[in-house]
Amino acid sequence: MKKTPEQLLSALYQRIASLDYAYYVEDQPQVSDAEYDALMLTLRQLEAAYPQLISTASPTQRVSGVAQNKFTPLTHRLGMYSLDNAFSDEDVYQFWQRIVNVLPQAVPAFCVEPKLDGLAINLTYEDGLLIHAATRGDGEVGEDVTLNVRTIRNVPLRLLADAPKGIVEIRGEVVMPKQAFEALNRKQLSMNQKTFANPRNAAAGSLRQLDPQVTAQRNLQFFGYALGYVEDVALLPPSQWGLLALLRRWGIRVAQEATYVDGIDNLLAYYHKIEQQRNALAYDIDGVVYKLDDLSHQRQLGMTAKFPRWAIAHKFPAQEVWTKLEAIDVQVGRTGALTPVARLKPVSVGGVVVSNATLHNADEIARKDIRVGDTVIIRRAGDVIPEIVAVVSHLRPEEAVPFVMPLRCPVCDSEVIQEVDKSVHRCSGGLYCPAQKQRALEHFVSRKAMDIQGLGGKVIEQLISQGLVQHADDIYALTEMKLLSLPRMAEKSANNLLTAIHNSKRTTLSRFIFALGIPEVGEVTAAALAQYFGTLDALMQATEAVLLEVNDVGPVVAMHVVHFFAQAHNQAVIQKLIERGVHWPDVEKHAVVATPVQGKTVVLTGSLTSFSRDEAKAILQRLGAKVSSSVSAKTDIVIAGEAAGSKLQKAEALGLVVWDEAQFMQLCVDPYDVVN
Ligand code: NAD
Repeated sequence: MKKTPEQLLSALYQRIASLDYAYYVEDQPQVSDAEYDALMLTLRQLEAAYPQLISTASPTQRVSGVAQNKFTPLTHRLGMYSLDNAFSDEDVYQFWQRIVNVLPQAVPAFCVEPKLDGLAINLTYEDGLLIHAATRGDGEVGEDVTLNVRTIRNVPLRLLADAPKGIVEIRGEVVMPKQAFEALNRKQLSMNQKTFANPRNAAAGSLRQLDPQVTAQRNLQFFGYALGYVEDVALLPPSQWGLLALLRRWGIRVAQEATYVDGIDNLLAYYHKIEQQRNALAYDIDGVVYKLDDLSHQRQLGMTAKFPRWAIAHKFPAQEVWTKLEAIDVQVGRTGALTPVARLKPVSVGGVVVSNATLHNADEIARKDIRVGDTVIIRRAGDVIPEIVAVVSHLRPEEAVPFVMPLRCPVCDSEVIQEVDKSVHRCSGGLYCPAQKQRALEHFVSRKAMDIQGLGGKVIEQLISQGLVQHADDIYALTEMKLLSLPRMAEKSANNLLTAIHNSKRTTLSRFIFALGIPEVGEVTAAALAQYFGTLDALMQATEAVLLEVNDVGPVVAMHVVHFFAQAHNQAVIQKLIERGVHWPDVEKHAVVATPVQGKTVVLTGSLTSFSRDEAKAILQRLGAKVSSSVSAKTDIVIAGEAAGSKLQKAEALGLVVWDEAQFMQLCVDPYDVVN
């Protein structure tokens, strides 16, 4: 049955009252601010349609918040108000219009300030000395948090300069800078304690601690923006802008982004400027505040029960929303890296519906302690990809379970291995895994591997999508007929390709090892492995300990090699490749001093197209050469790249051995096959 307006209003009152309690009293918000603001908006619209039904207890009619009974209540000498909100240019225009209607003669100017996202505090000074500090509470009665506020380093215990006589109340916001917030949450996580949903929540929780020692460690900051009761009215400046200047003189920190503007266009320009700066600011803001600058004009406009009519908060669109993490799936990328992906209950943030977010890796999930079933905070700032910034830890259901990376690849069931630095998990079925197909095949046919010319990325893509090639061995089962079924494949290119495939069957062991695409095994390592083991069988049976004896092989490479050959799927593909005719001459095992540059003095000159000078130098050194920078009679080999100059001439004059880049490449690919 459809609810009556009375029933709807009453349901909203109840819901908002319970959210207010959780937010203001317990510092444990149950929903995001965006969701709360949407409820308030609904309430306002309903009340506008049925003004006769508005209750005096409505959240629109009073300042929300309650003084908690764990602190002594302090009655404010002057009520502390909230601010009316504007969510659109139209709202700002109406605010402007209301002012112009009351002040038809004036040209209204405004003091404009960032809207700091913290909690409001009233500081009472007597003859320049801080005597009391209170939270806003319900606007009439706040909580005495004097001892805690005294621990905030930038709250002056005595006002500076011309410290005023009598009672002066300074109002402003206590905030927790973003960095301090992140550090606090990291610390809470490491101690298995609840984290805070956002810096505002952390600031409120830190200030309302029974033990001021805890507050003292929380890095809070105070920013002043208003005066409350002032005993000596002669102290009162004529404008809000003058008031900020006075606060600064007294040693109170004022947001440096505050400024003075006139004209509605300049209000909106300020809004957009600060919105641009928002992410770079050291503290969170959730909008800007426009305040009529002239204090006598402010008095003319006056107050409603809840907020001043001379000011408005123009809110930024929400960057953060909350939603449920329904599952964590694991995706396998082209390189075999496993990436956990969050499946979210769809939620709209910044105008986009978000239902997935990457979680990067297992470490990231552990660091943020994200569990399936959690309520998570999704952030989308500007065009940035949405991410899970944190978990709302006080809303964690009991059944939420920590995430563990699967032990087997979710795509091909090969073993998953964790890299030594622990952050990356990788599928070890490189040759077989469908997720890695395209990349593995591109690598397999590449120039320094099986060198199948004419088989580029596009053709591979077509072969895969037509189901003609699944794994590397399928390339050797291609026929003219199969190739001709590909779009835009002419007879001539098909035949050229078949010839290239046929020619590639005769290869070297080092090229073949490189072609397998074992993680971390590049050309030089492949060559070292071929040389050391001599046959593929020997390599396939090698243990990590044996592999470590090979020059150029460290623990990471050894681990990848062992896991790669341990996968039955990979073994099957290798077996088929051999059955389909891929072959190589056995490499004769050389003595240790076997590379053609071993013990030789080599000079590099000119520029190489495939390597930087440093890379070339490193390769030569690994192969036992001594790399020198000048040519002399003691030089054994000069490697001359493009535009080699005087060194090359000198080498020729001395009759030294000179290699071009192609010879150097040959050395890189298979150092033991180089013919001097
Ligand atoms: P408000 O935070 O929207 O605006 C008023 C407050 O702005 C002032 O009290 C003051 O503390 C602050 N402020 C910051 N910079 C200022 C400046 N330069 N000049 C003047 N004031 C400045 O209003 P509110 O009544 O304090 O709280 C409402 C806010 O709290 C909303 O954003 C709402 O989303 C959030 N809230 C959330 C929940 C929840 O469950 N998530 C519950 C209640 C309230």
